[in-house]
Amino acid sequence: MSPPSTLVWFRNDLRLADNPALWEAVERGAPVVPVFIMQEAGEKYGSPGGAGRWWLHYSLHSLDADLRRAGSRLIVRTGDPLSVLRQVAEECHAEAVFWNRRYEPAAVACDAEVKAEFRARGLTIESFNGSLLYEPWQVLNQEEKPYRVFTPFWKACLALREPGSPLPEPAHIPAPEIWPVSLPIEQLHLEPKIGWAQGLRAAWTPGSEGAGGNLGVFLDEALEGYETGRDRPDRQGTSRLSPYLRFGEISPRQVWRAVREFSKNEARTRLAGSAQAFLRQLGWREFAYYLLFHFPYTPDQPLDGNFAAFPWREDREALTAWQKGRTGYPYIDAGMRELWHTGWMHNRARMGVASFLVKDLLIPWQAGAAWFWDTLVDADLANNTLGWQWTAGCGADAAPYFRVFNPVSQGEKFDPEGRYVRAWVPELANLPGRWIHKPWEAPERELKKAGVELGKDYPYPMVDHAAARLRALELYQNLKKPS
Ligand SMILES: Cc1cc2nc3c(=O)[nH]c(=O)nc-3n(C[C@H](O)[C@H](O)[C@H](O)COP(=O)(O)OP(=O)(O)OC[C@H]3O[C@@H](n4cnc5c(N)ncnc54)[C@H](O)[C@@H]3O)c2cc1C
Repeated sequence: MSPPSTLVWFRNDLRLADNPALWEAVERGAPVVPVFIMQEAGEKYGSPGGAGRWWLHYSLHSLDADLRRAGSRLIVRTGDPLSVLRQVAEECHAEAVFWNRRYEPAAVACDAEVKAEFRARGLTIESFNGSLLYEPWQVLNQEEKPYRVFTPFWKACLALREPGSPLPEPAHIPAPEIWPVSLPIEQLHLEPKIGWAQGLRAAWTPGSEGAGGNLGVFLDEALEGYETGRDRPDRQGTSRLSPYLRFGEISPRQVWRAVREFSKNEARTRLAGSAQAFLRQLGWREFAYYLLFHFPYTPDQPLDGNFAAFPWREDREALTAWQKGRTGYPYIDAGMRELWHTGWMHNRARMGVASFLVKDLLIPWQAGAAWFWDTLVDADLANNTLGWQWTAGCGADAAPYFRVFNPVSQGEKFDPEGRYVRAWVPELANLPGRWIHKPWEAPERELKKAGVELGKDYPYPMVDHAAARLRALELYQNLKKPS
C-alpha cells in the first residue's frame, strides 16, 4: 500500500506561487495529490459561463504544465465534489485535504459539507486564505455589523495591517507512488465548438505566465498616471489582470506586493499616488467579496429591498440589441462589441452599458449580469454583482439613482477622439470626431462622405436618451415615496 497522501483541492487558485494550501501540503512532507473537480450545471452561477469555460480550459493546461515542472501533475475529475473527493481520497489513501477558501454562497455551503464529512471520518481538513487580502469576518463596524459603504470599509482594512509577502512556489512537490486516474482536460469540453473564441485567443494568454506578463507591462507602461489613465477605454491604461485574479492565476497579495515594491523604488517615488489609486481598486474587489459573503442573496436580489418592487420591463428585442451592440449609441455599442470579441470590457464602458440597460431600457440588472456572466472572461460572482447593483442604484455604496449616464457625453469625455468607437464600430470609422458619438446629428453630406447610411449600415438610437432618463427618474422617485 502506498503511503498516505495530502489532497490539494484546486478551485479559484490555479497557481503554484503564493498558494497557501499547496505550500502547507508540501510542508507536511507526505505525497501531494493536486485535484481539480469540474462541477457541471446545477446551481445558477455554480460553474463558469461560456467565456469563463474557454479561459478555464487553457488555465488548467497551464496549471498542469506548471505542476509537472515541479514533479507533480493535475488530477482532473467531474461530478459532485463530495463524492469525487471521497473517491480520490480512498484511491490515494489520503489522510488530509487542503484547500484555499471560497466565498460564493453555494461554494461556502459545499465546502462546509465536505469539511464536516471528512472530519467525521478522521481526516485532517485545513482551509487557507489564498484569494483575499482580508477575510470578510475580520472587518466589522462599531456595531459589529458589516460595512455597506466602501471608504470606511477600506479604511478599516488598511488599519488592520498591510498585506504580507507572498509565498514562493514550492521547488518540488512530492508525488505519490501511483497516480490516481485523471480525465484529459479536453474531455471537460470547455472550449466552444463554434469559432466564437478567436477574439479571446488573440487577446489573452491564460495561466500564471500570462498574469505575470500583464503585471509587468502594467508596471512599466500604465501604472504612472493610472489615476486618470484608468478612465480611458481608448487606451491601455489598466492592468487587465481581472481574469487572472478571477481564476487565481495570480493572487491579490502578489499584485499588491509587486506594485508596492515597484513604486517604493527611490527612482519612482512619483508613482506613489498612482500606486495608491491602483491598490484602492484591489480594495473594491475585496469589498465585493465582503458583500457577497455577508449578503449572500445579492446575486439575485437587490441589497436595498425597496428595489424589489421596481417595475422593470421585459423586452427581449431591446435586450438582444444591447447584447449585440446595435443600440444606435456608438459608445455603448463599442463596449458591447469589445466584450463579445475579447471577453473583456473596460470598466468605464461597463458602467456606461450597464446604466444604459437598467436606466434607459429599464431592463432588470439581473439580465445584464447574466449576459456578462456568459461573455466575460473575468466573470466573477462578487465583482459582477457589485458592479450591476452599484449601477442600478440598489446595492451598497450605490450610485445615486438619479445619476443616469449620458451615452453621448460619456463617449465624448472618455473617448474624446472616438478611437474606441472606431476600433469596435468600424462602420463609423470614417465619421469625423465631431459626430462619432452622435451620428444621427451629422449632416447628410457628412454621413455620405463617411459611407454611412443610418438605419442601414448603423441603427438610429433605439431610445431617445433625454426622454428615457426622465422616465427612469420618475419610476425611481416613485419607488422612494412612502406608500
Ligand atoms: C456592471 C459591472 C460589472 C462588472 N463585472 C465584473 C466581473 O464580473 N469581474 C470582475 O473582475 N470585475 C467586474 N467589474 C469591475 C471592473 O470593471 C473590472 O474589474 C475591471 O474592468 C477589470 O479590468 P482591469 O483588471 O484592467 O482593472 P484594473 O483597473 O487594473 O484594476 C485591478 C483589479 O482591481 C479589481 N477591480 C478594479 N475595479 C473594480 C471594481 N469596480 N469592482 C471590483 N473590483 C475591481 C479587479 O480585480 C481588477 O483586475 C464590473 C464592473 C461593472 C460596472
